[in-house]
Amino acid sequence: MRQIIIASRNQGKIEEFKELLTPLGITVLSLLDLADPPDIVEAGETFYENAKLKAEAVCAATGLPTLADDSGLVVHYLGGAPGVHSARFAYPEEGDAANNAKLLAVLQGVPAYKRQAHFVSVLAWARPQQATRFTTGRCFGRILDAPRGEHGFGYDPLFYIPELQQTMAEIDIRVKNQVSHRAKAMQHMLVLLREEYSR
Ligand code: IMP
Repeated sequence: MRQIIIASRNQGKIEEFKELLTPLGITVLSLLDLADPPDIVEAGETFYENAKLKAEAVCAATGLPTLADDSGLVVHYLGGAPGVHSARFAYPEEGDAANNAKLLAVLQGVPAYKRQAHFVSVLAWARPQQATRFTTGRCFGRILDAPRGEHGFGYDPLFYIPELQQTMAEIDIRVKNQVSHRAKAMQHMLVLLREEYSR
């Protein structure tokens, strides 16, 4: 049986992967299915390092091919911050609301044309005895000065996509799954997985 582990506990992410991989005849498992999942510290300085760390730790612990993603928001005016620290930008405060409030505070008074940003997702595919492979997806936009929309998570309400004239939190989840950084990284990864699993 062909199996792949998604190195995540995020139900939404796991469902996205299932939808894409099940048609290839691959059984999708996640950290939620493991009795004793490895403890992974995301100590890397880059999205690549963190995705690699997660994928290779789970692959080593289980002996099964593993997919891991690491993602975040890159704000150009802030020299790339919050970047790999996106989930804990407002530390010691926690959560999306605190992170969004901090982002608005550090960009206060910065004009719209200097508020460009992009989301990044790096996917790592680790396999026993083989080199780990990577794909990347990006979604470009700019940071508003007030939140808009109720969907999504994280920085979505502040992330405006000019082509759609909406924030990531205003668009439907199905649209997000076509335009998002993660969706693009997954489309690239699917090409690699098809090569492997259609043999
Ligand atoms: P992780 O890859 O799940 O660790 O996500 C890192 C952090 O980046 C999240 O906690 C969010 O703050 C941010 N992030 C990643 N992807 C998205 C997204 O699609 N929308 C909004 N925020 C995101």
